[in-house]
Amino acid sequence: MNIVQQCMVWKTIVIIYLFLFFLLYKYKLSWKTAFFDLFITALCGSLLWYGNQLKTYVYLIKYVLLALPTFYTIRFVASHFKRRIKLGIISLWQLLYLFLPVTNFFYCLTTTKGLGKDAMFALAQTNYLEAKEFLLGKSVLTWGVLCTILVSFCVLYYINKVLDNDNYYYTLKTKQIGIVFLCTFVFLTGYLIKNVLAHSILYGSYVDSKAFINKLANKEIPQDLQVHWQNPDNQIGNIVVVIGESANRDYFSLYNYKEDTTPWLCSEKSNPNFVWFLNTYTCNKFTSKAVPMVLSESNQYNGIAINKGADLVDIFHKLGYKVWWISNQGRNNNLQEGFMPIAMRADYRIFVNANKAVFDIELVNQLPNELSGKNLFFLHQIGSHGNYNERSPQEFKKFHFEGIKEQGNDLNQYCDSILYTDYVLKNIYAKSKNVLKADVLLYLSDHGEKPGVPRDRFDFAMTRIPLLIWFSDDYMCKHEHVFNQLKLNQQRYFTNDMLYDTLIGLSGIKTNHYGGKYDLSSSSYAYDKNTVLTEYGTIKISDDPYDLGQKD
Ligand SMILES: [Zn+2]
Repeated sequence: MNIVQQCMVWKTIVIIYLFLFFLLYKYKLSWKTAFFDLFITALCGSLLWYGNQLKTYVYLIKYVLLALPTFYTIRFVASHFKRRIKLGIISLWQLLYLFLPVTNFFYCLTTTKGLGKDAMFALAQTNYLEAKEFLLGKSVLTWGVLCTILVSFCVLYYINKVLDNDNYYYTLKTKQIGIVFLCTFVFLTGYLIKNVLAHSILYGSYVDSKAFINKLANKEIPQDLQVHWQNPDNQIGNIVVVIGESANRDYFSLYNYKEDTTPWLCSEKSNPNFVWFLNTYTCNKFTSKAVPMVLSESNQYNGIAINKGADLVDIFHKLGYKVWWISNQGRNNNLQEGFMPIAMRADYRIFVNANKAVFDIELVNQLPNELSGKNLFFLHQIGSHGNYNERSPQEFKKFHFEGIKEQGNDLNQYCDSILYTDYVLKNIYAKSKNVLKADVLLYLSDHGEKPGVPRDRFDFAMTRIPLLIWFSDDYMCKHEHVFNQLKLNQQRYFTNDMLYDTLIGLSGIKTNHYGGKYDLSSSSYAYDKNTVLTEYGTIKISDDPYDLGQKD
């Protein structure tokens, strides 16, 4: 909004207030009532922004200034009804205002941080497990809100009854004033929602999330998609793609973290069929935004909308592959999660968390022991998603190191979850090699994490992810040049939204929906530190303060 528009809005507010004070005076709306409404709006505002950790007093003042006239308007409208109905309408309106802020307040009491984007995104996705983690799991919250609603209504009704002296009563003669009042009401409510409430993380992120998810759910498969093997005599077989969760590579000893969090991965450094990439980032810090881009043609650079273009399921289906989606996240048939519109087109779908939260090793247990034809497996971990403590069994709770006071206990538990991921990967590797006879095993994380810091607050730690690939001996024989190219690109800056092109490239696939410059396994790969982006193209990776240009 520019300065002229800002001035217009403030002028309008001043005029509205002058008008309201005129009415208050002329129709003798009691000052007690007027102040009670002021008290309620101020209370609502304070609770709504409580725990937001932003400098929000400006929004708070705006909120009160804008919300207050809507209360007077409701009083005006209600006054045309019988007394009990009038008091009921006024109390309900006040309650409606209080509902969201009170929820936020109880949430803060139980979690130490406010309801944020994470919670709103989880709610918007109707991801039961996550929503439960954020909301329903906290019984204090559920009961607190229910009791508050009931008690609040009674209290509000009583106060309104006491304050209501029936001195103010508008007749239908005041129709013209009523129309002006209602227009004011519509304008104010609209403005309030669009420009003030939208700045509370709570409301704004819910609206954004819902719009984004609906867009994803309407994904289209391109009609012109053509897919072939580059060399039909040199086809690869089974592929396993492990999508990690909230894994920041800076906490992997493979990437030189000081604690021994990934002992097995470190031992793999000597495996000649293994390559790990040093400067890999996410395209977005949220699962539901990152994973769809990881799996599809759309990336931050090519301008293809997230719901257009091909995805890896389309590509491999065209080559006769069976696609497996084995996940420790999400629910079958729930299209409200960003990755689900793609996952739902897999031939086999297994959701290991269907009944209760389980550890990631269950993903390995669900891999088949016998296979036919060609298969592409997606294993979607719960990885290091908060609450970290719930991500690893007791025998992996190993870290108790010093110097973490500023981050509470979280860093230890976070490292435990990385240690557990190392163990899970070791098991996936063994099964992929010995049972599935996979030619490619690839692991990358959806996004990173700053342990203990809610993802409402962007931090480059949330962008730094691992990317690791293992190849079979057979692959190494037939595609040595691809492996060598990947090795050459080991230090290149890369974002996970280009995985689509990279997997197509390293699999030896030819398609009209592919860009060589996004393919890390190609000599045409075109991106470097100054051109890679994150947060859906809004933040430059070259600004990453953690980047020390890691070599090896
Ligand atoms: Zn995630």
